[in-house]
Amino acid sequence: MAKVILVTGGSGLVGSAIRTIVETQNEALPDEKWIFTNSKEADLNDVQATRDLFEKYKPTHVIHLAAMVGGLFHNMDNNLDFLRKNIHINDNILETSFQYNVKKVVSCLSTCIFPDKTSYPINETMIHNGPPHPSNFGYSYAKRLLDIANKAYYQKHGVIFTSVVPCNVFGPHDNFDLKNAHVVPALIHRLHIALDNGADKFVVLGSGKPLRQFIYSLDLARLFVWVLRNYDDVEPIILSVDEKDEITIRQLAEMIAKSFNFQGILEFDTSAADGQIKKTASNDKLRKLLPNFKFTHLETAIADTVEWFKKNNKQARL
Ligand code: NDP
Repeated sequence: MAKVILVTGGSGLVGSAIRTIVETQNEALPDEKWIFTNSKEADLNDVQATRDLFEKYKPTHVIHLAAMVGGLFHNMDNNLDFLRKNIHINDNILETSFQYNVKKVVSCLSTCIFPDKTSYPINETMIHNGPPHPSNFGYSYAKRLLDIANKAYYQKHGVIFTSVVPCNVFGPHDNFDLKNAHVVPALIHRLHIALDNGADKFVVLGSGKPLRQFIYSLDLARLFVWVLRNYDDVEPIILSVDEKDEITIRQLAEMIAKSFNFQGILEFDTSAADGQIKKTASNDKLRKLLPNFKFTHLETAIADTVEWFKKNNKQARL
């Protein structure tokens, strides 16, 4: 029987990357029909709108990406909204998927929801081992509840509702809004403005010392498709680059500066928050299942994203 795969959050960073690989890079299989939806088509906070969406497409599989998403500073100011909106969206998607006999749901957690105080590297068994970093506790607990719900649906109904745990994602179609953006799009946008103003200084918020792992959205998209087709466990799986590829925010800023061919100086505004100092995640589980996966070299992926932003900044989310 043909698969009908509904991708919620299909207009976002990750959803657009999945769309690119299945629609323009020929990665869809002949028995797969892919549907990409967004909040304009259906507000997934609304249970009736969610049911209408499922009634319209009758999906057999769901990749669930839709979420209220934002960077450190947006999270710090809006924990209540992150908590409530994401709990509602996730409950509507899982319960409607169950009611419509969806065979598999792959939802999205994040490495930033892991306990603040933990040993490293973090792995899939450690999600619930302690409170998250206080900066984003609303988002974190809503995401952690997805994993709890997946296990409860399995216990009661035996369905495969599972989740993946990406590290920091970046790429084309990201949210470049200076107030809400994650670190990569925020730095790209800030430097673009600095260059437009002829500035010789690139100011980076925070000390530049925190360590992060970054995955290119198109690599993540390929891994998502692999999970949908091949990973049948309810337990989450981390989708991250290797531990050795973790870099500091300073190194990231230097890569972005190089991609823009910026010759000025980098300055770190240490009055701004740093967030969690590191979140190093282990991709051992992924590497055991998919040992030959090749991640795009980080400098190449950053340069491609900078090029995309230069070409598309009139239409990008700013
Ligand atoms: P984006 O912010 O780029 O996109 C969010 C998507 O969700 C958009 O398609 C948006 O639709 C949709 N959406 C938001 N609210 C609603 C709603 N109420 N009803 C229907 N759709 C809605 O997010 P990303 O692509 O970055 O994130 C995708 C997933 O990956 C999320 O679950 C996120 O938590 C997770 N993740 C992201 C990371 C990152 O670094 N970006 C890291 C780890 C995990 P519209 O365009 O219409 O607003």
